Amino acid sequence: MPQQRNLKTSGIILRKTDYSEADRIFVILTKEFGKISAIAKGVRKIKSKLGGHLEFFNEINFDFYKSSTNDLYRINGAECVMLNKKIIQNLKLMEIGYEIIKLLNKFTEEKYPLPKILKLSKFSFGLLNEEQNSELILLSFKVKFFTILGYLPSFDHCLKCRKKITESKNYFDISNLGVVCQSCLSKIAVVQAISFPLIKTINFIQKANLEQVLKIKIEKEDLFILQNLIEKVVHRIEEH
Ligand SMILES: [Zn+2]
Repeated sequence: MPQQRNLKTSGIILRKTDYSEADRIFVILTKEFGKISAIAKGVRKIKSKLGGHLEFFNEINFDFYKSSTNDLYRINGAECVMLNKKIIQNLKLMEIGYEIIKLLNKFTEEKYPLPKILKLSKFSFGLLNEEQNSELILLSFKVKFFTILGYLPSFDHCLKCRKKITESKNYFDISNLGVVCQSCLSKIAVVQAISFPLIKTINFIQKANLEQVLKIKIEKEDLFILQNLIEKVVHRIEEH
C-alpha cells in the first residue's frame, strides 16, 4: 500500500503554471520540505476558496497531501499569514519582488530546506510592502542570499592569505568572488579595486539583519559600485 500523508508547513510561492482545465501547479519554497511542486485542483474556478490565498509575496500556511508514489504534493488548504498586497499595487516594488523570486527559482535546489533563505525572503517582502528603500532591499537581499548559499565569503578576510582586511588597498577577485589584500594581488587574474568603506558596508550587510541594513547610509557612488559588483557576481555564478 502506498503511504499517504497530510502535511502542514508555511512557505512562499515561486511559480504558477496553469494545468488542465481548472488546476494550477505551484512551485513553493516551504519551510520544512524546501522547494517543492504542488497542484491545486480546481483553483482557477471562480468559486475556488483556495485561489485568493495563493499569491506571490505572501507568507502562506499550507495543508498538503502527499502520496509516497507521486512527487507532486496536493494543496488541500492554504491560509495567508502575511499579506503583502502593497507590492502588487506598485510597479517598482513588484519588479523588485519578482527579481527576488527569479533569484530564488534559479539558485535554489528542490527538496532541500533553506530556512535562512526563506526567512530572508519573507523579511524582504515585508519590508518592500512597507515601501522602504526598495533598491537597497534588493541589493542587500542579493548580498545576503549569495552569502548564505556559500557563493560569497565573508568580506572581513582576504580570500588568499586569510588575513583580516585592513584599511590599505584592497581588491575584489572577480573569478573567485572575494576580497584580496595588496600582498596577494599578484596571484589574482581579474580584479577590481574596492574601497575599505565599501568592504565594511558589504560585510555589515552580510552580518546584520535587513532592518539594521536599511538604517545605514550608503553613498550613491558606493551603491552604484555595489550594484555593478553584484552583477558580476551573478554572471560569475551563472558561468558555473
Ligand atoms: Zn591576502
